[in-house]
Amino acid sequence: MTIAVVGATGLDGMPLSLRCEGSTIADVGPAVVPDPDDVVIDGSNMTILPPFVNGHTHAAMTLFRSYGDDLALIDWLQTKIWPAEAKLTADDVYWGTRLACIEMIRSGTGHFFDMYWHGTAVARAAEDAGVRATVSAVLLDGLDPSRAAQLRDSALESLDALGEFGDLISPSLGPHAIYTVSRPSLEWLAQMAADRDVAVHIHLSEIEKEVADCVAEHGVRPAALLDEVGMLSPTAVLAHGCWLDGDELALIAERRATVVTNPASNLKLASGTFPYVEAAAAGVPMGLGTDGVSSNNNLDLLEEVKLFSLVQKAAAKDPSVLPAPEALAIAQGLRSQLMAGSALERGNQADFILVRRDLPETCSGDTVADLVYAANGSAVDTTVIGGRLLMRDRRVADQEAVITEVRERAARLTS
Ligand SMILES: [Zn+2]
Repeated sequence: MTIAVVGATGLDGMPLSLRCEGSTIADVGPAVVPDPDDVVIDGSNMTILPPFVNGHTHAAMTLFRSYGDDLALIDWLQTKIWPAEAKLTADDVYWGTRLACIEMIRSGTGHFFDMYWHGTAVARAAEDAGVRATVSAVLLDGLDPSRAAQLRDSALESLDALGEFGDLISPSLGPHAIYTVSRPSLEWLAQMAADRDVAVHIHLSEIEKEVADCVAEHGVRPAALLDEVGMLSPTAVLAHGCWLDGDELALIAERRATVVTNPASNLKLASGTFPYVEAAAAGVPMGLGTDGVSSNNNLDLLEEVKLFSLVQKAAAKDPSVLPAPEALAIAQGLRSQLMAGSALERGNQADFILVRRDLPETCSGDTVADLVYAANGSAVDTTVIGGRLLMRDRRVADQEAVITEVRERAARLTS
């Protein structure tokens, strides 16, 4: 099936039509002529743009939505999430991720960076749903050197298994955090990421205690520790970064690692606020994520981007901070940092969304400002990834079946 979109407009408000061939964009411009066999989508009253990139999530946590709300991070992990996760099967993770993918397709996300148990089930779900995913199995040794060999085995096993998937899936390594993975294991993982040229996805400097503990244990702050073990590189994805100081931000910028901010999760768990103004001044590459839905509680990046902008304005006591175009670029930016071909250009992957411009909240304002401040994910009408139509007119295949599966599994896991 070849898709052509005619009569849409771009983010700049100018006419923009597009035609796919296979999984790539064959033609794009103000007026594109569809072939007679094309499936033609009428883009009138729609804005066409690249999909959003969710830079940090644990997709299958849809199974634990609202389970253990309103607890502090460590309490929540120890009393609710870790015991429930102990019961998880690979099939649970598959179905939880399928539901997450439906949520993401419905809110315009085309790629997510995931860290979770049973990584191959995550990859299988993303592939079946048609969404791009950079997938890592969670790796931790509980700071116990006797578990390091086991960590190395599971890292290698998961990289090999994830490498068997198709184009939509990128294997990566997911050391959980510096307080759950020992220094020798971090060193080994950094080397393995470099050898295999894969991303390393890690939680960093999420809560204040992590910094104090790191300084007490290692004599340096978290980003410096990551640099010492060789993990700060252009393929490093650092989730949160709420407590990074000026020296750490300068170091991260120099190493071209990406910090992914998760404002809803940070607010909900009262973890802290990402120092955006300082990070932007230092030139730190940035992305936006939702974190798992247990701490959000959804995967809607259009809600997240608004929150991001508002939180940073409030933190800076300056409404001119993080204006809509800058915030939107960050919601789409991680992909251009770590992957090629995100712009709507001939030869790039045919990944795009259509957002309705005939809704009450999106019918009359500035296109970009409406997206960031007025709309939420329900304004997304159509999602196409790799030339495949995943949603049109807000309908996604298999939605009912996936919801039924997840309801049963969530009830079992949280009972
Ligand atoms: Zn997380």
